[in-house]
Amino acid sequence: MLRFPDYVQVLVTGGAGFLGSHLCDRLIGDGVAVICLDNFYTGTRRNVAHLLDNPMFELVRHDVTFPIYLEVNQIYNLACAASPIHYQFDPVQTTKSSVHGAINMLGLAKRTRARILQASTSEVYGDPDLHPQPESYWGRVNPIGPRACYDEGKRCAETLFFDYHRQHQLLIKVARIFNTYGPRMHPNDGRVVSNFIRQALGNEPITLFGDGSQTRSFCYVTDLIEGLVRLMATPDAVTGPVNLGNPGEFTVRELAEKVIALTGSRSRIESLPLPPDDPKQRQPDIGLARKTLGWEPKVALDEGLRRTIEYFDRVLAAGRKSG
Ligand code: NAD
Ligand code: UDP
Ligand code: UDP
Repeated sequence: MLRFPDYVQVLVTGGAGFLGSHLCDRLIGDGVAVICLDNFYTGTRRNVAHLLDNPMFELVRHDVTFPIYLEVNQIYNLACAASPIHYQFDPVQTTKSSVHGAINMLGLAKRTRARILQASTSEVYGDPDLHPQPESYWGRVNPIGPRACYDEGKRCAETLFFDYHRQHQLLIKVARIFNTYGPRMHPNDGRVVSNFIRQALGNEPITLFGDGSQTRSFCYVTDLIEGLVRLMATPDAVTGPVNLGNPGEFTVRELAEKVIALTGSRSRIESLPLPPDDPKQRQPDIGLARKTLGWEPKVALDEGLRRTIEYFDRVLAAGRKSG
């Protein structure tokens, strides 16, 4: 039986969340030992319940804003609420999760010499005036608006990653993730895909913010996880940042119409005001990911939506049954 450090022991922070739980599934499927660390702020034990009996899997309740001492050789740092209603509920905690969380995880990586990957975000580009967004674009973020706790926290985390890399020679990987969707999104997280599907399945009004002409590019979760795993496996010299997302660009109104058609819903579209600082357009330039990771998304929006609708249909029906 191999003992640490001769086998791969991976730490996934935020591992009980939407993306984190799919990453844990993937790593366990690859035969890797996983410590899943989460404070269950927006994630839930249910997302990883099926892994709890696996001897390669360990679940730890912990908040990354506090230090932790573990022996690992790879860290995926995903801990941070990601949907606007969740990250704006306690904005100070959001910044702390990104910044103090990054410091602690980088400190852990420095002590164990683990390679560490940061789940950064397309939000570092803010409301972009360059389209599509390449990694070389520095962004246009309002530092004092309601989205800043998330955007600036993630920007500062990137700064910390690159400074630990330069100052302490850490092996870092920074992924800039664009809107990703799929099963295990929280039905009430307020994100556009989960909102529209939940509303359509209940034949409730579809809440379209603004005139719906703003665009987003939606990546299906399994594609995204493949990109993260490939990035972690790159040679030491590859640090990123690397955009990971699906370049297919849709207006939010098109998304609403697709969801209505795919669910066969009787919902109608209701227009509501656009939230402040809502980016007008977002589309990844994935040239770098194609070149360095040999990666591109495979699941088209219609197919991904079908799979996500199936999941929501099941969990919402189970929720109604249990009252
Ligand atoms: P999520 O909210 O489902 O997952 C975040 C997880 O982190 C949750 O399980 C939550 O409980 C946990 N968490 C939050 N604060 C924590 C803390 N202080 N200590 C420990 N655990 C904490 O969101 P997600 O969509 O799975 O996002 C995962 C990561 O990917 C986040 O860092 C997010 O910023 C990033 N990301 C996601 C998207 C997307 O579209 N889903 C896009 C860009 C970036
Ligand atoms: N840290 C941690 N786990 C470790 C090593 C460090 O949580 O295994 C935390 C530690 O508490 C510190 C932070 O990571 O606050 C940054 O560590 P670093 O070594 O860079 O800084 P220093 O300890 O010198 O402040
Ligand atoms: N949006 C919407 N109705 C909703 C939720 C979101 O029209 O019920 C819009 C939102 O204004 C934004 C886009 O959909 O333009 C994506 O929103 P989300 O919160 O999913 O992600 P982000 O803005 O962080 O990309």
